[in-house]
Amino acid sequence: MKEERYTFEELCGMFDGRLPDELRTHKLNDDLRTSLAQALTKMPKRIVEWASGTLIFISSTDKPAFCISRKLKPFKGIIFLSDCLRGCSEKKQAFIIAHEIAHFKLNHKCGISDKLTKEEIHKQQNEANELAGKWLGYDFEESGKRKEGISHE
Ligand SMILES: [Zn+2]
Repeated sequence: MKEERYTFEELCGMFDGRLPDELRTHKLNDDLRTSLAQALTKMPKRIVEWASGTLIFISSTDKPAFCISRKLKPFKGIIFLSDCLRGCSEKKQAFIIAHEIAHFKLNHKCGISDKLTKEEIHKQQNEANELAGKWLGYDFEESGKRKEGISHE
């Protein structure tokens, strides 16, 4: 059963203007905002709605994407996106973003601030990949592209 999706136009701007003051300087640039909106067109509406009330997306200069749990009321966490994400195919970009959202949907522990064993991290990564694949209808693990050289957490 195919779930409803938002259009690109509907998604442009959906995540704008809601950054807490302290994060204003880390606003996503236009390219990354486009990548985010494109990625979200591939995800079920109910997940996008949930994410829009729960998560903040800001820019970083580090890995293509990673996330941290931080309570910034009413938000639950922050997903960082960097320009190197743009080096991936559109499908892969969407998968990476969906994977980060999945970590929050699954109430995962934060790989950065919580002390996790390698096994726990691995388990969380697999769970996030699985859920991202379910939302998007495709999976980057199965197509053997896991070691594509794109690291994300
Ligand atoms: Zn992950």
